[in-house]
Amino acid sequence: MAHMTEWLPATPENILRAAEVLRKGGLVAFPTETVYGLGANALDIHAVGRIFTAKERPAEDPLIIHLSRRSNLKQVAQSIPALAQTLAERFWPGPLTLILPKQPAVPDLVTAGLNTVAVRVPAHPIALALIEAADVPVAAPSANRFGHTSPTTAQHVWHDLQARIDILLDGGPTPIGVESTVLDVSSDPPCILRPGGVTREQLQAVIGPVAIWNRQTPPSGGLPSPGLLERHYAPRANVIFFLGSGEPQVQLALMEYLNALLAEGKRVGALALDREAEPLERQGALVFRLGPDVESAARHIYAGLRWLDSQQVEIVLCRDLGEDGLGLAIRDRLQRAAVRVIRV
Ligand code: AMP
Ligand code: MG
Repeated sequence: MAHMTEWLPATPENILRAAEVLRKGGLVAFPTETVYGLGANALDIHAVGRIFTAKERPAEDPLIIHLSRRSNLKQVAQSIPALAQTLAERFWPGPLTLILPKQPAVPDLVTAGLNTVAVRVPAHPIALALIEAADVPVAAPSANRFGHTSPTTAQHVWHDLQARIDILLDGGPTPIGVESTVLDVSSDPPCILRPGGVTREQLQAVIGPVAIWNRQTPPSGGLPSPGLLERHYAPRANVIFFLGSGEPQVQLALMEYLNALLAEGKRVGALALDREAEPLERQGALVFRLGPDVESAARHIYAGLRWLDSQQVEIVLCRDLGEDGLGLAIRDRLQRAAVRVIRV
C-alpha cells in the first residue's frame, strides 16, 4: 500500500472506510475505552505482520484479539470454560481480556506461538462499529512504538506511528486511560496477568478469590507471556517511582529527592494529584497534574509522561497511589516505566 496515513474524524462514513481497509489487510488505529489500538484482521497473517513492523514489536509478544460481540468468541477460542462465560457476560463490552484455548484458525503470529489466545470485546462505540463493519476479528495492541507509553489521544498515535499506518480514526481522548485487565482463567484461582481497567475488586465480587501474577516470583509454570516482563510503558526521561504506604512519608521522601536533584542543576518533572502539586512546584519541579483521584490519574497518566518528555525534563518523580481500584494498574505501569523504584 502506498503510504499516506489518513487522519480522519470517526464519522460513520469514515468508520465504514476504515472497516474496508481492515478487510483488505490494512492497518487502522482506533480508540477503545482503554487506549488507542492498532488494528489488523487477526486471521490475515500478512496484515498481522504489519502490526509488528509498524510498532517494532518483537514477535514473542502476543496480541489481543478484539471482537464486536461475545457470540463471535468461537471464531478465535477453541473452548469457553464456564467461568470465562460468566465473566464475558458480566464484563463485556469492557476492559477485561480473557486468556482462552486458541482456535487453530488464529495464526501463530497473533499468539506468539502460545496455544492460548487473548480476547475481549471493547466498550467503545467507535471500536465496536469498526469491528462489526469489518466483520473479522481484529488483533490490536496499543498503537504506540514498542516499549513507549501507550497512546490515549490520536495525537499520541500520530507522534509514534505517522506514515506506518493506513488510517487513524480520531475519536478524542480515551475514557479509562490504562490498558485492559488480562486474566488467566485456566489457573485456580484465576490470575490477573496484567492489572487494568476492570479492577480486582470487581472480578472478586463476581467469581471470588483472584490472584495477581507476581513478576518477581513467577509461578512454577514459568512466564505466561514474554510481554509481561520487560521494562515497558517508558518515556524518554528517567522515571523514579516512590513506593510506600504512608502517604506523608512518601511525599516527604520524594520532596527530599527532588531538592537533591535540583541542587545538582537537573531539570525535574513530576506527576502528582492536584492536591500535592503545589509544594512540588514551589520547590522548582515541572508538575503535570493528574486530577483529584485515581480514576482521573489513570485517564491522564500516559499523557502526563508524554507531556513531560515534550518539556525535556531529565527525570520524572512520581509516587504509588495504592492498590485499590485502578491504583493497581497505575502501580504496575509506573513500576515498569521506572528506572528506579524507591521503597519508603
Ligand atoms: P498490548 O496489546 O500492548 O496491550 O499487550 C497485550 C498483552 O497481552 C501482551 O503483552 C501480553 O502480556 C498479553 N497477552 C496477549 N496474549 C496472551 C496470551 N495468550 N497469554 C498471556 N498473555 C497474553
Ligand atoms: Mg502495549
